Amino acid sequence: MKKNIILMGPPGAGKGTLAKQLKEAFHLVHISTGDMFRDAIKAQTELGKLAQGYINEGHLVPDEVTIGLVKERLSQPDCAEGFLLDGFPRTLPQAEALSKLTKEISREIDVVINLDCDNDELVRRISGRRVCKNCGAPYHIITMKPKVEGVCDLCGGPLYQRKDDNEESLKVRLGHYVSETKPLLDYYANLGLLESFNSLTGKEALFDEVSSYLKK
Ligand code: ADP
Ligand code: ZN
Repeated sequence: MKKNIILMGPPGAGKGTLAKQLKEAFHLVHISTGDMFRDAIKAQTELGKLAQGYINEGHLVPDEVTIGLVKERLSQPDCAEGFLLDGFPRTLPQAEALSKLTKEISREIDVVINLDCDNDELVRRISGRRVCKNCGAPYHIITMKPKVEGVCDLCGGPLYQRKDDNEESLKVRLGHYVSETKPLLDYYANLGLLESFNSLTGKEALFDEVSSYLKK
């Protein structure tokens, strides 16, 4: 079983949705840098205040900050049984720092799951996305409705629209994805770790495909 996993793909490709499914099925620790930043913003910690401006505009939080955050989380004892990195790494310095860290703590990456998705679909998904304020679970106002409008199926928390889920910020985020994150696909392909899946197949089919691949 492959258990130390990176999830990659553009914003809206379905990393968060897949992460929640895999986490339940295989008892992996879900490490979402986006969720960590949003929690810090909600609590208005120093980290939150620093990250807020970058995130709302769609820019990346500086590498030193993000790398420090992931180092601390990934070194915790609960990650020994396996983890899902969702939204990290997003830049080459982040990927290099991660390789160094995972070697040091003997938790090397087994696979990079890349989700392919076309641009029109990304825009459609992001503009209808709603997220649970409590647990971060993602929904869509048309294609992934909660059982009760505005309420999270998993924890009963209120659903809201992220500040950065607007057309303006999305353009900026996609720009960062293409120039900084997409090149990492080559980095991981060269290491023999990259495995791509089409995220347009629907969330259940995608989950089945990825699960059977991980169990191999
Ligand atoms: P999405 O995948 O939908 O763009 P995330 O929740 O993963 O959203 O991230 C939201 C925002 O948090 C990003 O646009 C960025 O500002 C910040 N962020 C998350 N992860 C990183 C990272 N690895 N490096 C820099 N900034 C990050
Ligand atoms: Zn919830």
